[in-house]
Amino acid sequence: MNKPKIWLSSPHMGGKEQEFVKEAFDTNWVAPLGPNVDGLEQDLVAYTNSKHAAALSSGTSAIHLSLIMLGVGPGDFVLCQSFTFSASANPIVYQGAIPVFIDSEKDTWNMSPEYLEQAIIELMAKGQKPKAMIPVHLYGVPAKMEEIMSIASKYEIPVIEDAAEALGSSIEGKACGTFGQLGVLSFNGNKIITTSGGGALISESEEYINKARFLATQARDSAPHYQHSHIGYNYRMSNICAGIGRGQMLVLNDRVNQRRSNFEFYKNSFANVEGISFVNELPGSYANRWLTCILVDPLKTGGKTREDIRIDLERENIEWRPLWKPMHLQPIFEKYPFFGDGTSEKLFEQGLCLPSGSNLTESDLERVLAAIKKVLSV
Ligand SMILES: *Cc1c(COP(=O)(O)O)cnc(C)c1O
Repeated sequence: MNKPKIWLSSPHMGGKEQEFVKEAFDTNWVAPLGPNVDGLEQDLVAYTNSKHAAALSSGTSAIHLSLIMLGVGPGDFVLCQSFTFSASANPIVYQGAIPVFIDSEKDTWNMSPEYLEQAIIELMAKGQKPKAMIPVHLYGVPAKMEEIMSIASKYEIPVIEDAAEALGSSIEGKACGTFGQLGVLSFNGNKIITTSGGGALISESEEYINKARFLATQARDSAPHYQHSHIGYNYRMSNICAGIGRGQMLVLNDRVNQRRSNFEFYKNSFANVEGISFVNELPGSYANRWLTCILVDPLKTGGKTREDIRIDLERENIEWRPLWKPMHLQPIFEKYPFFGDGTSEKLFEQGLCLPSGSNLTESDLERVLAAIKKVLSV
């Protein structure tokens, strides 16, 4: 018989979610607005210390609305971290704009400030100044925001900060998602907290957030009839999903602590194992450790590769994931410009995400560890 499945990152309810959902039913706020939507937005503002938040149907819609508000349109250039999930880049193409992919640096695996600046200089020399940039805090590890923001302000390019994987992460106590002009959060099913599906936009600017709410509810002008002077979208979060979100916000800090302790467990367990390495927090950074990832260097493991581990985990009924395949290597995106030196490609080749959910038990973690140690014969 198969051993029970160990999941990579499954939803983990706190207990109060159903109360908020029940209240929505009891008061008949089964609608794409209502007290839970307002409440979740207030919770997000309080937690991230941003000024304003709009709860939306997904993180992807938050990126799309950000690009629209920044005036990104056909033929415009948008700088985007290559090493990410496709949802960071897809909305650029929705707008008919051109993504320019930037490689990772080795310290945080996120957008390389060096290649970012090189791309800006080369594009500007051709009169193609980028309209926006999208750095990502991948796997919840904060990017080098100080460098990225100083490049952004030097060249006056607005930043859409993709913090979809990084709710609960911060740099010097400042929440990820609050560095750029616009910050993106996701509450998809496998993220650190979930609303089953959903996202949010956070910003210092009330104007952006009001505009996002307007665009996300079909862009209805204030008139007694249905009057439209903009193209609208149906991107608001439902009051039911927001109820789940309010319950999840109550346990967010516990979830971060649990994921960080999973990371510590793996890191300590592999401390003396040659050829297995992790991405570290920079000094002052605090990672939510959404997923714990390892790099497997076959030159140091006696020839054992990521693939050997993957095959064994599968046999043991343990869910795993490769690291994100960089966007500049994707069939749909490979025709677009790329600036880099192959760092993200190497991460993709050697990397593996381990089960990291906040609901894993100690014996789950031990099972994962034993499976990998068996492959490595350590
Ligand atoms: C999940 C994710 C998104 C998109 O969020 P959805 O809510 O799934 O639309 C965007 N960027 C990154 C890096 C993500 O991991």
